[in-house]
Amino acid sequence: MIPERIKKLKAYRFPEFRKDRLNLNENPFPLPEVVLSEFKERIDGDDIRLYHSPIDNTFISALTEYTGFDGKNISLLNGADEGIYFLISLFGKEGFNIVSFLPSYKCYKEFSLMLGANFIEIPLSRDFSIDMERTLNVVKDTRVLFFIPNPNNPTGNLFARDKIVRILKEIRGFVVIDEAYFEFSKTTLAPLINKFNNLIILRTFSKSFSLAGERIGYLISNEDFVSHFNGFKNPYNFPYLSMVMGSVVLKHKDIFFERIQWIEAERERVFNELKKIPRLKVFPSKTNFLLFFVKDYKKLRDKLIEERISILDLGKGWFRLSIGRRELNDKVLNVIKEVNLLK
Ligand code: PMP
Repeated sequence: MIPERIKKLKAYRFPEFRKDRLNLNENPFPLPEVVLSEFKERIDGDDIRLYHSPIDNTFISALTEYTGFDGKNISLLNGADEGIYFLISLFGKEGFNIVSFLPSYKCYKEFSLMLGANFIEIPLSRDFSIDMERTLNVVKDTRVLFFIPNPNNPTGNLFARDKIVRILKEIRGFVVIDEAYFEFSKTTLAPLINKFNNLIILRTFSKSFSLAGERIGYLISNEDFVSHFNGFKNPYNFPYLSMVMGSVVLKHKDIFFERIQWIEAERERVFNELKKIPRLKVFPSKTNFLLFFVKDYKKLRDKLIEERISILDLGKGWFRLSIGRRELNDKVLNVIKEVNLLK
């Protein structure tokens, strides 16, 4: 009874649930006490009984204040991933090719496979910048939904704004700028949503606001697109508890911004430490993670397993390390140094 295509799908492999993991770019700080207690105070047993409109609520108002965009330009999502899923589902059915870079955030490809959409991967240049010739060849001739994570994951770099604008102009289709790390990069293309009617911005509360477990994301686009997108998604997709949590978090955003500053300083410290290690190449980052490469990686891979350190092993010597608390970062640095010294 189960269709063949569905039988072939592989379920997502969840990494081990550990508080000291550095493989999913989670925020290393727990939710502040003040946010937690205000959240508990604000939850109303009578309100939770009811269905809440995802297009008109206090969280949308808070987001309007935070982003500077009208509620009509915003659509609430259960994490940015839900936005990616909905968009691929929507455009894939219309015969659009789903496009992204290699390397890039793996869910664009995985969700395309899940949803039966055609996925095209465009290799980045050696310095992780956009190869314009290759890119324009793909986006000019076919109808595409193009995912551009900016900054990119796992490379950590921002792409040149003029290249993205050129893609926006030349594409036959839509460009999704995935700004999951926006509060770290402080760079956005959102002000262009009314200039380009094919521009969609995705954001998340998972990284900057310590809320990966609560699943809060949102999309910003022109009013027309947002109203059609809202017509496509299941109407009550966004939970009341997330609306309350999102509003409380934004009220206390300064606490999170201070932590972001700390993470950025720590990222630079770890970057400089990694840079000192011979035969290891680390790449600058505008996010809460670092990408590095080691040629003789087998010893490091084995040692990480032995020490039960969870960083993302991308294969063939490429590793992505999320910035954690200082002690944990030091533990990882020591393991890498030790392996390097054993040579
Ligand atoms: N986009 C990018 C580029 C990401 O790195 C991530 C998280 N790994 C996401 C989206 C997913 O965010 P969310 O938790 O909001 O689904």
